[in-house]
Amino acid sequence: MYSDIENSRKWGYWNISSSNPLIIAGPCSAESENQVLKTARELKASGKVHLFRSGIWKPRTRAGQFEGKGHVALEWLKNMREEVDLPFVIEVANTRHVDHALNASADALWIGARTTVNPFYVQEIAESLKGTDIPVLIKNPIHADLGLWLGAFERLEKSGLHNLAAVHRGFFASNSAPFRNDPRWEISFDFRRAAPAIPIICDPSHIAGKRELIEQITQVAMDIQMDGLMVEVHHSPKDALSDSDQQITPGKLISLLKELDLESKAVTPRELQKLISDQRKILDNLDKSIVDTLKKRMKIVDELGHIKANNNASVFQMERWFDLLKQRGYQARELGLSENFINELFQIIHKYSVEHQNEIYQHFRDKE
Ligand code: PEP
Ligand code: MN
Repeated sequence: MYSDIENSRKWGYWNISSSNPLIIAGPCSAESENQVLKTARELKASGKVHLFRSGIWKPRTRAGQFEGKGHVALEWLKNMREEVDLPFVIEVANTRHVDHALNASADALWIGARTTVNPFYVQEIAESLKGTDIPVLIKNPIHADLGLWLGAFERLEKSGLHNLAAVHRGFFASNSAPFRNDPRWEISFDFRRAAPAIPIICDPSHIAGKRELIEQITQVAMDIQMDGLMVEVHHSPKDALSDSDQQITPGKLISLLKELDLESKAVTPRELQKLISDQRKILDNLDKSIVDTLKKRMKIVDELGHIKANNNASVFQMERWFDLLKQRGYQARELGLSENFINELFQIIHKYSVEHQNEIYQHFRDKE
């Protein structure tokens, strides 16, 4: 949301900014030469895609899932580049991958979330890239540790790599509603503050986990001035061997990019600060009243705890708990709030209420 002139950043061959975003698209995994070519041809025809992405070694959470086609798929990508004229970027997670990628003259590399998390891997990759200045994208680590993310950039920079960009792909969420990974947008603000020259590309596919949610995430990414998008695209998403739920067709990507609002959010830093601080004042007041209400609630919990302890009634009453969740769930639905949100909130409120009443019980017993 800052003016574009001061926000133009360079990565690889491209000068990018949120009004001129870098678009990286392609399948989660290269599955066959035909799939690569078919998807790439459609993307190229749109004239909107700068770089073709595709995983060839796939880091899968569970054993036995499709782990990618391996280095044979590099031949398909090289043929695609020759025929379709799109440069390609692949994921590397160890030095063997780097050797294969450099031999195939990959145009760029990305380091995945499960690799950024481990400084040993990042260091080895950094050392094996010494002497090249290949453009590298570094995805955020799985958990929300800004230091670890920045540390990966430092390791590559120390190896002489300066063509670096960040990919914000969200952070592990124990509950995948509504998104597979929690966006935690504030972490990208912190990243930008710490490293203002480094472009930040949003990966809405891994944040969303579901194709229906990709559009709203891409718009947020553009509104907060990210410099590009990395989107998983497959010519037939339902047949994809990995991440099938979150892939979209090339046609869908193209219409989504046409719909994206890149212009209207441009405001100066001062206007933006004012807008944000006005809204924050309102939030501060609301938050204060939430805490006041919680204090009042805890007072009743305390009185109830004494009544229960005096009458030897049990603290946790299952029926009451399910009834509370049901009632508040109805209320949330009526108000158009997420039921999951209210459910999780009350789990915490209830946990601390039960803990408080257990303390009252303990105190009561100690006196006996
Ligand atoms: C991917 O981009 O396909 C991938 C494995 O991503 P991440 O490292 O973000 O999970
Ligand atoms: Mn994927």
